[in-house]
Amino acid sequence: MPIERTLTIIKPDAVAARHIGDIIKIFEANQFTIVAARLVHLTKEEAEGFYAVHRGKGFFESLTRFMSSGSALVMVLEGENAIARLREVMGATNPAHAAPGTLRKIYAESIERNAVHGSDAPDTAAYEIGYFFPGIELV
Ligand code: GDP
Repeated sequence: MPIERTLTIIKPDAVAARHIGDIIKIFEANQFTIVAARLVHLTKEEAEGFYAVHRGKGFFESLTRFMSSGSALVMVLEGENAIARLREVMGATNPAHAAPGTLRKIYAESIERNAVHGSDAPDTAAYEIGYFFPGIELV
């Protein structure tokens, strides 16, 4: 299994609900190592840049308003097969469809306010890590 780096965000809903500690505990229990971290409060423009791939979709305005509504904890996680494994630990986008025990099943409030972000592929991980941590090594 390759050692990879992936980007995660503990989103504003989960930060406001004081779930940072619980979520990091689950990351570490799943053998992810935090190699970079920043607590941010995104501007609307920064949220739009991060989610540029969704521009034009019906939920884009609401999503970027939510993501810029409060503090979020952005981290780079490292581990074996980290990109796909983080997606499994997170669960499905819609918590109604997320498997029991996954972060979104436990902490998400709705399909939009779904507690955590995780890169979905190596190319998006590279883009997203560079978006928040320019200059960091990708692997
Ligand atoms: P992810 O990779 O599982 O985060 O899902 P996507 O890349 O498809 O969507 C990005 C984010 O947009 C999700 O994590 C949700 O916060 C939000 N989102 C996705 N689909 C919907 C939707 O149908 N409605 C709303 N309101 N938000 C959505």
